[in-house]
Amino acid sequence: MTRVGFIGLGHMGSHMCRHVCVAGFTVSAFDLDAGAMAAVAGAGARPAHDVADCVRDAEILVTSLPGPPQVRGVLCGPDGAIAALPPGALIVEMSTSSLEVGREVLAAAGARGIALIDAPVAGQTIGAEAGTLSIYAGGDSEAFGRALPVLEAIGDAARIFHLGPNGSGYAVKLLLNLMWFVQAVATGEALAVGVRAGVDLGKLHTALISSPASSVFLERDVRPVLERGDYDEGFAMRLVTKDLALAVDLARDVGVPVELAALVEQIHRRARAAYGDAAGEMSAIRLYEDAAGIQLRWHADPPEQET
Ligand code: NAD
Repeated sequence: MTRVGFIGLGHMGSHMCRHVCVAGFTVSAFDLDAGAMAAVAGAGARPAHDVADCVRDAEILVTSLPGPPQVRGVLCGPDGAIAALPPGALIVEMSTSSLEVGREVLAAAGARGIALIDAPVAGQTIGAEAGTLSIYAGGDSEAFGRALPVLEAIGDAARIFHLGPNGSGYAVKLLLNLMWFVQAVATGEALAVGVRAGVDLGKLHTALISSPASSVFLERDVRPVLERGDYDEGFAMRLVTKDLALAVDLARDVGVPVELAALVEQIHRRARAAYGDAAGEMSAIRLYEDAAGIQLRWHADPPEQET
C-alpha cells in the first residue's frame, strides 16, 4: 500500500490520520506534542522521531498544521520535510494557510521534483472525526488525481472540490471562513437585540429561519450555543483570528477593499482578548451576550426591559 507520512495531529489531524490508517495506507506520523503521538500509535500509525524520520520513505506527505509559520517551518529549510522526502513524492498540505507561503513551498518542492497540492478542509472537528470533511484543493490535475485516494479517506467524496491551480484551495477556504465568521457576528448582534427587545429567543429563531434572512449558520451551526452554551472549543480563537487575518491579507494582496471583513476580524480579535486563545470559535456571540447582559439560551428567562 502507498506509504503516507502525516505531520500535525491536533484537533483535526488526529482524526484525519486515523482515517488514513483505517483506509489501509501505511502511515508514519509526527507531532511535537507527546500526547498526540501516543494517541496516533493507538490508531495504527508508526510514531516517527522527527520530521525527517516521518517522511524519509513517504510517497505522500499530509500536513495539518496551525498556520503559515508552521507550514513553512515543517516543509522548508534544511531540516524540513522537502529536504528529506524522496524525489517524486507528493505533499498534500491541508492546513488553512496563506497563498504566499504556498508559493514558497511550491518553489522549494519543485526544485526537488516533489509535487504539491493545497487542500484545506471545512467541517469542524465533528467532520474530521466522522471522515466527512469538505476539501478544497488547488494544484495540477495529475497531483490532485494522485492525492484523491487519501482525500477520500479523510473527506466526503461528494464534497472534494478541485478548484484550479495551486493557491485556489487556500483562497476558497479563507473566503468561506470569512463569510461564516461574518454571519457569527451578524447573528450574535441580531439575536441579542431581539431578546433585549423582549422577543422570546425560540420564537425569534423560528421566525428568522423561516425568512429570507435564514442561513445554515442560523439554522444549524449556532444551535449548540443556544441549546447548551457550547461555543465549540474544537476550533480555538487563536486559529479563528489567524484565518480572518489571512482573509484580509488575501484581499489586500489582490487589491480589493474589504471594510466589512476588516471590521469582523477586529470583533473576533476582541472576543479572543476577552475569553482567551483557546476559547471556542463562537466566542464573538458571547461578546454580544455580555454586552446585552443576557445569555442566548432557549430556556433562559426573558431579560428585564430597559426603562
Ligand atoms: P491544532 O492546534 O489542534 O493542531 C495543530 C497540531 O500541529 C498540534 O498538535 C501541534 O502540536 C502540531 N504542530 C505545530 N507545529 C508543529 C511542528 N513544527 N511539527 C510537528 N507538529 C506541529 O489545530 P487544528 O484545530 O487541528 O487545526 C489544524 C489546521 O486545520 C489549522 O490550519 C486550522 O485552521 C484548520 N482547520 C481547523 C478546523 C477545526 O475545527 N479545528 C476546521 C477547519 C480547518
